[in-house]
Amino acid sequence: MSEIFPAEARLLRGRAAVTACPGQDSCGLCASACAYGAIKKPGRVPQVDHALCVGCGACVKACPQLNMRLVDGSKGEYAEITLKCPLTFLPEPDGEARLFDGKGSFIGAGKAVLVQPLPGGQFGLVRVKTDRALLTTAVRIG
Ligand code: SF4
Ligand code: SF4
Repeated sequence: MSEIFPAEARLLRGRAAVTACPGQDSCGLCASACAYGAIKKPGRVPQVDHALCVGCGACVKACPQLNMRLVDGSKGEYAEITLKCPLTFLPEPDGEARLFDGKGSFIGAGKAVLVQPLPGGQFGLVRVKTDRALLTTAVRIG
């Protein structure tokens, strides 16, 4: 699928959700988790309304397939990307986080400025400070 990425003006206002969901018929957990009505799922693929999204991260935590992330383009030459990952890939706080694109290729690294194990003991949330050039392409931590 082609992602709907926030416009530059929205990126400059802070964190916004982006989905890399390929389409899940029986899943709409991201939309159900959003208290702001910012995710609709008219078909197989969820759609984020970036005008309504406040960047709370509830959809990122809720997605079982790690298809949601937050992007923040308000930090000047840096970007912050918030991703969910298996606990085994959780970096140390302030440690290095390795970033991968949608094809699984390593594209760069950043600093883990937030590391938060999630309830259930399988996943964690990581916010990575990295080059702004990676903002559109980093979709996984490994
Ligand atoms: S980040 Fe929060 S407000 Fe934005 S789409 Fe996800 S759950 Fe909704
Ligand atoms: S929760 Fe994840 S897998 Fe389910 S519809 Fe949303 S983005 Fe797709």
